Amino acid sequence: MGYPESLQKLADYLKNARRAIALTGAGISTESGIPDFRSPGGLWSDPGLMETLSRRTLARNPALFYRQGFSLFFPVLEAKPNPAHEVLAWLEQQGYITGVVTQNIDGLHQKAGSRRVFEVHGHMRSGTCMECTEVYPMEYIRAAVEQERPPSCECGGYIRPDVTLFGDPMPHQFWQSVEEAKKCDFMLVVGSSLEVSPANTLPQYVDRVAIVNLGRTSYDRQADLIINEKASKVMLELKSLLQKNS
Ligand code: NAD
Repeated sequence: MGYPESLQKLADYLKNARRAIALTGAGISTESGIPDFRSPGGLWSDPGLMETLSRRTLARNPALFYRQGFSLFFPVLEAKPNPAHEVLAWLEQQGYITGVVTQNIDGLHQKAGSRRVFEVHGHMRSGTCMECTEVYPMEYIRAAVEQERPPSCECGGYIRPDVTLFGDPMPHQFWQSVEEAKKCDFMLVVGSSLEVSPANTLPQYVDRVAIVNLGRTSYDRQADLIINEKASKVMLELKSLLQKNS
């Protein structure tokens, strides 16, 4: 099937779905200037980083966790949504999807106007004291790290970012997204290798799955439709097609 036919099929899936949801990953934000993890040159090119960004390192050596690990994420705070995020927000407004489940921590879906967002790996808006659970804005954490000290609370405890770290249990929003996926019959995956567990189990709950991703994914064999093109191109053309067909 050629690209125009695949795009039409994607539009038809959305139009005919009883209830649909999107699932996004780091690949939807590369066009906003945020590198993904698994593409060449992505963050996982450094094998030690997974350990540095773990709950264990945060507990044993918060200075190292923040200085060599978490500080890599601060540029995300300045990023702006791209057309792929904007079209997903439009799809929600038009009633084609009920929301977005995202593995991303960048907050770009909300910045683009999506209202129902399940952040299954947390977010970059805040952090929480590991002793007294007081919540602090990310700017407080960033200021401390930029002054070369791990962020600490008034009570003396260290503050951890509200991001899911290696070794953390999955947050409540993940379990909510499982319940949402079970209610849906169609899932549109955008920009994820579907390698990260357990987020990559979500497609199995729906009858039909379409994937828009540059590279291969671990769900390609089971998917009903795969479009290996850039997310923003596909999403913009999908929007035009849906507008034309309606
Ligand atoms: P991943 O890095 O495993 O996979 C990204 C996929 O996106 C790749 O297969 C790549 O081919 C594809 N891709 C890259 N640019 C694309 C584009 N313009 N259009 C279409 N596809 C494109 O990402 P993942 O599956 O989300 O897993 C990585 C984990 O890292 C996630 O858990 C996520 O929380 C985290 N992460 C988040 C961010 C972010 O918040 N923006 C950035 C990096 C990593």
